[in-house]
Amino acid sequence: MPDLTGRVALVTGGSRGIGRAICIALAHEKCDIAVNYRSHAEAAEEVVRELKDMGVRAKAFQGDVSDSEQSNNMIESVMSEFGHVDVLVNNAGITRDRSFVKMKPEEWREVLLVNLNGPFNMTSRLLPQMIERNWGRIVNISSIVAQMGNFGQSNYAVAKGGLIAFTKTLAREVAAKGVTVNAVAPGFIETDMTAAVPDKVLDVVRQLTPVGRLGRPEEVARAVRFLAAPQASFITGEVINVNGGMYMG
Ligand code: NDP
Repeated sequence: MPDLTGRVALVTGGSRGIGRAICIALAHEKCDIAVNYRSHAEAAEEVVRELKDMGVRAKAFQGDVSDSEQSNNMIESVMSEFGHVDVLVNNAGITRDRSFVKMKPEEWREVLLVNLNGPFNMTSRLLPQMIERNWGRIVNISSIVAQMGNFGQSNYAVAKGGLIAFTKTLAREVAAKGVTVNAVAPGFIETDMTAAVPDKVLDVVRQLTPVGRLGRPEEVARAVRFLAAPQASFITGEVINVNGGMYMG
């Protein structure tokens, strides 16, 4: 018996990479899915088709999570389509890498707006109805970089570290309301994001990863699926590392 029948998940940045894999993993539990995306409508529609073929309800919702008004409108559309959201996966994220001495203020700001204000915009609007229904799962996609630091990613590390601090704090605030809040911290995963990383850097990553390779989006999605399950109700404020052993917390 699938575990999330009748539940609805909103996955931000569900059109590609890790987000897409999360949508599919949750659909294996018969969860209905709202697929958020910012710019790749065709990719989002393709994910929706795949989800519908798996027998769940699914629809794509355009909206930039860093923009408060767009977030509001997007969530309103999701609510009028599905009625409620039980599982929120704050996955949408960007990088704007540059060593700190050369970093431009807009690169700092943009990364914080998408990776940290985005989860604020989503969570602040969806949490009240989770509390009202006395059930909810929030999973924040952080990063190994929050734990280790990484050259050229001070903006990204701050945002992803903030997301872990947010996860732990919110988990304490809503634990008694049937809502769990957890984070998943991926290592280096094969997506468009890491396709932009130079090959020689990825070779070093492979050398530093005991498993000896980059991860796959499905391997991150499995941890999200685990945390979203009803049986994960006693796990909150936790960070699950999915990094091939590169960092052991
Ligand atoms: P991708 O670049 O492959 O995909 C990013 C997704 O986020 C796309 O669906 C994109 O939508 C969406 N997105 C980007 N900005 C916004 C926005 N402002 N509003 C709404 N959606 C947006 O990234 P990954 O799949 O690699 O990464 C997913 C998450 O995992 C991110 O938070 C990332 O930081 C994190 N992560 C990734 C790692 C990796 O090695 N890949 C490692 C650790 C963490 P669209 O296509 O429409 O633009």
